[in-house]
Amino acid sequence: MRYRGNWPPLIDEALLARIQAEQAARRYNRRLPDTAHRLSSVAYCIKCGGPMYTCIQKTGSGKPYPVLRCMRHLPSTNLAERKAYAYIRATITALAERQVDIEQLLGETVDRSAEVVAAVQVQENIIAKANTDRRRIDNAYTDGLMDADGYRYQVGRLKQRIAAATDEIARLNDVLAEQGQQEQRRARIEEAITAGLDRLDDPDPTRANIWLRTHLRLWTDNQQVVSIEWL
Ligand SMILES: [Zn+2]
Repeated sequence: MRYRGNWPPLIDEALLARIQAEQAARRYNRRLPDTAHRLSSVAYCIKCGGPMYTCIQKTGSGKPYPVLRCMRHLPSTNLAERKAYAYIRATITALAERQVDIEQLLGETVDRSAEVVAAVQVQENIIAKANTDRRRIDNAYTDGLMDADGYRYQVGRLKQRIAAATDEIARLNDVLAEQGQQEQRRARIEEAITAGLDRLDDPDPTRANIWLRTHLRLWTDNQQVVSIEWL
């Protein structure tokens, strides 16, 4: 569980957001192959959920012809890298021409961060007050102003109040985290619209791959792309 403390932060919010985005992207990409093909850890098999491997085949004239392949099952899944690339290119173009609505991709994205932060503060105040009450009750008992039953009753009540507030803070922080992720996704999609086509055509396949696998995931069936998932 994590919630906003009252001490000065070690890193600012923007840096934290970038670190979390990077962590989220890496979580999907634990085992990266040594040779980065353009769609390594980008294209996934819809049949089994595993990553597609890139095999370099040769055309009749000897030109290299990369094919995405999943052989964990029969029949295997195969798709020309060229086709997969054309799908990504068409998707980014459609987004750039606003034929596809980003809001629709993101779902409900109303930013309620300020309200949620305020709600967390209310719960933190409840906890702070309960802790003050607890000290008061401790003193009252020590001073003989309260009997053991009364003391136990009051302490139980305060513990319940603190537990309820703590649960509520955890729930609110989940809401906040989700909103942060939505904003990061929106930023990645916006970046794809402005720079995606150039990134796709990066002459360095490793650099193109890094951009692709931190922005999207391609779900692939035999001879066709099923969908693009924006990370
Ligand atoms: Zn598969």
